[in-house]
Amino acid sequence: MHSEEQAKQVVDELSGRIYTALRDGGLNAEPVLELASLLEEWGVCTPATRELLDRSPAHLTTEDLTRLGESLLGEINFEPTFALEPRLWATLEHSLEVVERDVRSGGIIGTLSLVTYDWDCSGHAWVEFQGGSHGNGIPPIAGNDAQGALAEVADAVQETIMELIWKVWPVCATHDRGLRAELDRGIAVWRCTGGGTHTVAPVGELS
Ligand SMILES: [Zn+2]
Repeated sequence: MHSEEQAKQVVDELSGRIYTALRDGGLNAEPVLELASLLEEWGVCTPATRELLDRSPAHLTTEDLTRLGESLLGEINFEPTFALEPRLWATLEHSLEVVERDVRSGGIIGTLSLVTYDWDCSGHAWVEFQGGSHGNGIPPIAGNDAQGALAEVADAVQETIMELIWKVWPVCATHDRGLRAELDRGIAVWRCTGGGTHTVAPVGELS
């Protein structure tokens, strides 16, 4: 009945409505039932779709709808977009500001920005350096955790900058090796694998 792309759009639209209603209140049966019947139409049959389609809609309470709506979103691995959760974008932008301190203290000039591309149907954020970008982009959900976002953005900045300047950055002054952005006990840091691995500095505090 639909092309694959149209089908994806319908699922995105329904799941976005369910997500927003679960967050803000006001969930009604219509998008939940519609999503369940679409999924079954495509041969995706789960306990939640079964329950939704077997029961009489009039007997579904708000608690039922909430539980089943959450199950459906989980079953299709739903993740909010930047449009649905602007705070995810704000967290990534703030992370880029922090990483930019390291870029500048490394003596690297050139415009850094966070962008999305029309051609990218995954809806990821991309780090652009002097108009170019590399890697796979950053999924919106990365913005859910401040330190995790910082490590992901640092990694994306590093990948993009190194592709464009053809130099390793940042480097451990002691071991002359490239650093990696990682989480160390929940904090985003630059790590060096020289001398049995050590943390050089938290992201944003390279000197
Ligand atoms: Zn080192």
